[in-house]
Amino acid sequence: MASKDTYEFKAEIQQLLNILVHSLYTNKDIFLRELVSNASDALDKYRHATGHTAQAEEDGPDLEIRIHADKEAKKLFIEDTGVGMTREELVENIGTIAHSGSAAFMKELTEAKEKDENAVADLIGRFGVGFYSVYMVADEVVLTTRSHQGGPALSWTSDGKGAYVIDELADADAANAPERGTHIEIRLNPDLADQFTDPETLKRIIKTHSNFVRYPIYVDDERVNTVPALWREPKFQIKPEQYKEFYTFLTYDQAEPIAVVHQAVDAPVQFNALVFIPPTGNGFLPLERDNWGLDLYVRRVLIQRQNKDLLPEYLSFIKGVVDTEDLPLNISRETLQDNLLLGKIRSTLVKHVLGELEKMAEKDEEKYFQFWDAHSEIFKAGYQDFANRERFAKLVRFNSSTHDDHLQLTGLDGYVERAKEGQKEIYYLYGPSREACKLSPHAEIFRKKGIEVLYLYEPIDEFIMDSIREYKEFTLVSAEHADAATLEQFDDAEDAPKAEKLNPEQEAALPGVLGRIKDALGDRVTDVRASKRLSDSPVCLVNPDGQVTSSMDKIMRVMSK
Ligand code: ADP
Ligand code: MG
Repeated sequence: MASKDTYEFKAEIQQLLNILVHSLYTNKDIFLRELVSNASDALDKYRHATGHTAQAEEDGPDLEIRIHADKEAKKLFIEDTGVGMTREELVENIGTIAHSGSAAFMKELTEAKEKDENAVADLIGRFGVGFYSVYMVADEVVLTTRSHQGGPALSWTSDGKGAYVIDELADADAANAPERGTHIEIRLNPDLADQFTDPETLKRIIKTHSNFVRYPIYVDDERVNTVPALWREPKFQIKPEQYKEFYTFLTYDQAEPIAVVHQAVDAPVQFNALVFIPPTGNGFLPLERDNWGLDLYVRRVLIQRQNKDLLPEYLSFIKGVVDTEDLPLNISRETLQDNLLLGKIRSTLVKHVLGELEKMAEKDEEKYFQFWDAHSEIFKAGYQDFANRERFAKLVRFNSSTHDDHLQLTGLDGYVERAKEGQKEIYYLYGPSREACKLSPHAEIFRKKGIEVLYLYEPIDEFIMDSIREYKEFTLVSAEHADAATLEQFDDAEDAPKAEKLNPEQEAALPGVLGRIKDALGDRVTDVRASKRLSDSPVCLVNPDGQVTSSMDKIMRVMSK
């Protein structure tokens, strides 16, 4: 076999290269992410093939990735000590699109091309286009490689225009070739050379995209990725201060997180998650509203920041990362969006987070109240999570008539424990403040009977009650709708205010009074009745049974406008 051979790129690769070279796409940084991830994959493969577990070996080069730049020569070098490639592998892997991560990209490309150049550029951004992305910055690439299985050192050279050359290195050249693994020499496009030979730029790109690659990455001999991918480490090896450090690294928040959820899950999908409950809320500035989501990694390489499919919005206060082996590195954002796998990760993750909150509520109430204080405004939207409705119901908190001030809180479990013998309903009352609730005519009979009423201060609380409906053996009932006869069964509380009884004369005048009020109000009311519930207030408004509460009615009127 001739040592030097020229090969034509397959038509589809030529097409891809042509697009990359001429694209308007500006975020060219991602080429480095792709090359580093290939290097990391090659190191993984080497470790796997040889059964090595250590980072370093006694009889060979360390497992690492080295990057250095030569400003004068306008060149960038990326070197790994991974598996390397044989000639067959070079042709097969680099020359054939079926074996490259670019295949998915090409599939979508046909559609995008029918649109316009911007659509194509956008597509490059949304995909990792694998090895070929190097041609967004390169005029020529020389890849030198030596397979760990032995054989000669080889060079692969191409300007990315139509063909590549594979050459077997003569002994003299082979001295510069890797002992094992792959060296990539990039002759940079002169317009981009300053940018991509600047060590600070290179470090920044690596920190952004490849910070958690498990092998050391050096830029001009300086180690760049210093924070370990904590989420992939066994829990028992991690010290609390490492979690704190990682949280700070992730969020820039110096405070201690309220809780850490660290999970390694194998079924129904493989993923590692490390998420935190921050001690304070996001704030509700409109600008902040979109500022949430978990960072999605695939095998330690960042795929997407603030992915919003990994958690429901009501848990959007949570910060952290998810890493899965079950996704390809170069998955598109679109494919991500309706990805079944992410849906499975999400439902598993939600269960772990709710479990953590339950544990906290049980074991450390003070901490739980801190959580509630910081995040309840967002968390309350969880009433829409029907799959976890019971668990959500257990976690919501309210101020109540049994409390001394508006700062105290109870859950439904607390209410149930305090309920009267024979009580089958949990009562709640909406009002803009504790004072308003206490003054409400609807609260009177409950005070008289010594029955607890939960005070709801926010409109969303009523939606929560509406969706929970039942808790344990109790039905949730608005104080406005509570049945007077049911309540009358209970004995009066000791300190109950006593209503004066009507004398026979007043009794006789009652129908006339009611009739006159009814006439005056006309069809604004359905009926006017004498009440057994009131003791202090002269009058109160009630809704006919089964209809929405008056506050809910107000909300619905506003919404339908
Ligand atoms: P992907 O990484 O998704 O397979 P790429 O286009 O990035 O797609 O790479 C194509 C193939 O080339 C890889 O699958 C691998 O077999 C081979 N390859 C690329 N870079 C290296 C490297 N540094 N060492 C060994 N093999 C490599
Ligand atoms: Mg790749």
